[in-house]
Amino acid sequence: MEGEEKYTIGYLIKNIGTKKSHQIIKKGVIEMTHNAKQAHNGKLPNYDAIVIGAGFSGLYMLHRLREAGCSVQVYEAGSDVGGTWYWNRYPGARCDIESMYYNYTFSEELLGEWNWSSRYAAQPEILNYIHFVADKFDLRRNIQFNTRVTTASYDEKSNHWSIHTNNGLNVTAKYLITALGCLSAANKPNFDGIVRFKGEIYHTGDWPHEKVNFKGKRVGVIGTGSSGVQAIPVIAKEADQLTVFQRTPQYSTPAHNHSIDEKVIKETWTNYHELRKFMQASIHGIPDIPRDKSALEDEIGERQLNYEKAWNNGGLFTLMYCYNDIVANEAANETASEFIRSKIKEIVDNPDIAEKLMPSYHYATKRPIIDTDYFETYNRNNVSLVDLKTTPIKEVTPIGVRTTEAEHELDVIVFATGFDAITGPLFNMDIRGKDGVTLKDKWAGGADIKTYLGIAASGFPNLFMITGPESPSVLSNMIVSIEQHVEWIADCIDYLGKNKIEKIEAKVEAEASWKKHCMEVAQYTLLPKADSWYMGANIEGKPRGSLVYMGGVGQYRQICEDVAIKGYEGFSMEHIPEVSN
Ligand code: NAP
Repeated sequence: MEGEEKYTIGYLIKNIGTKKSHQIIKKGVIEMTHNAKQAHNGKLPNYDAIVIGAGFSGLYMLHRLREAGCSVQVYEAGSDVGGTWYWNRYPGARCDIESMYYNYTFSEELLGEWNWSSRYAAQPEILNYIHFVADKFDLRRNIQFNTRVTTASYDEKSNHWSIHTNNGLNVTAKYLITALGCLSAANKPNFDGIVRFKGEIYHTGDWPHEKVNFKGKRVGVIGTGSSGVQAIPVIAKEADQLTVFQRTPQYSTPAHNHSIDEKVIKETWTNYHELRKFMQASIHGIPDIPRDKSALEDEIGERQLNYEKAWNNGGLFTLMYCYNDIVANEAANETASEFIRSKIKEIVDNPDIAEKLMPSYHYATKRPIIDTDYFETYNRNNVSLVDLKTTPIKEVTPIGVRTTEAEHELDVIVFATGFDAITGPLFNMDIRGKDGVTLKDKWAGGADIKTYLGIAASGFPNLFMITGPESPSVLSNMIVSIEQHVEWIADCIDYLGKNKIEKIEAKVEAEASWKKHCMEVAQYTLLPKADSWYMGANIEGKPRGSLVYMGGVGQYRQICEDVAIKGYEGFSMEHIPEVSN
């Protein structure tokens, strides 16, 4: 971005008193604070904080810190705001959290000004919402787009973070905040022969901005997670032929999407204060909790009625919330798993295909999926299913995909193969803390993740991670978790400034006890048993281990609040030495 770099503190000092420097300050390009004005070893950083990423988390972080008077710069690899909703433009892309709860809640004014059109908003509408927020708070003026941060290193002498980007920018900041998203590093399996394929190749997580035309084409979709399950019914309607390559069958329940009446929206906004409090104290960040009863306490008939009702209502957690032990007890889980399998059998006409579509892992130990006509799509005569468990992919040929059984001729291959979740985006960047140690090395490539609250890591002073590893993040309504992290980080930075603290760093023992707590909580659930991306099990060679905190957003919030109340217990802090005249 032209002229971006010259509007630094150095530029202002050089041009102090000139008309230009007044204009810049007035325009708000640089918003100096008491923090940034403090001299550190005689050298000032370019910014108080650098935020990486301009999705939901980066935008709110920018807004919060700017409101607090910090100078903030955001770097974003995409050409505009949106994060997940900027990159995931595949057909059928839609949110799986109800729209009314999938929006920022920090501003009453914002709530009143936005109307969602349907129960589960589609990607273009969510992206429009993010644009609306960026416009309303004039956020783009502190975001540099088309700029990927390649390295970020902490310099102990100056206590600054130095950031380098793919377009040659070198800048410094006191605080580095990663707002990378948990699902932003696309997993693109490197099948043998892939470069020889003569047709088109797409990944759902890196979809073109222009419409992809499937008309008259033979399309193969590899992957049946949330993205594949959403894309498959839509592509099937347009393509000549669709071949689905399935590695693991999925439990999916109907979304029952529908339009929302404006009156309902207005009423919801009116009661939002209470709803917000409920969501913040809940398990998954939604205004609902599981019924306080074991699935094994109900008679079969009663249980079936409950599941049936949940199936007909739709919703990501509705079936799981029928009882309090679906993700805690194998026998209880089996009742829900078997119910969904019976539905697949009922919906899919061909019993052989139905059989292949039936999952055997514990329901909801992978991210649950909600769909619109997913299983029904297998009744179309232009759709076929390849079971990769029995006939794995051997290679991609110039004309299609060859499994151990047959060559499937294709014009288009759609990878719906997910992401190198949570640690992937952090490892894709060369983040170096004290003594030049990389985050990847500290965490032994993911085999030994150690964070404090999923926000900070020892050896990496003044680094904050929004929805980092070992936080509830993807197990919850992301916006609720993002808001909590952003507010906690902003409050912490404010505390540091007010108390003249220059450096904050997680203590090794605090990390160890957080890890212990995360592991203890995980043992109460069935989640560690699944080969899910929560466990890093979807990527070949990725070390297996829990990437998330499973204690729920309410409990997690309480712990974070306690840490703050106790003067940021578990962190070591260094004061700014008095500057002598
Ligand atoms: P995903 O859940 O990880 O699914 C990826 C699919 O690709 C799985 O079926 C996986 O099989 C398969 N796969 C991966 N590598 C493969 C390989 N080498 N060969 C064959 N198959 C392979 O990814 P996703 O569908 O993109 O969803 C990721 C997450 O994003 C979701 O869980 C959700 O949190 C979020 N998301 C949300 C929405 C929404 O809000 N509605 C939509 C899309 C995504 P295995 O199961 O065997 O690993």
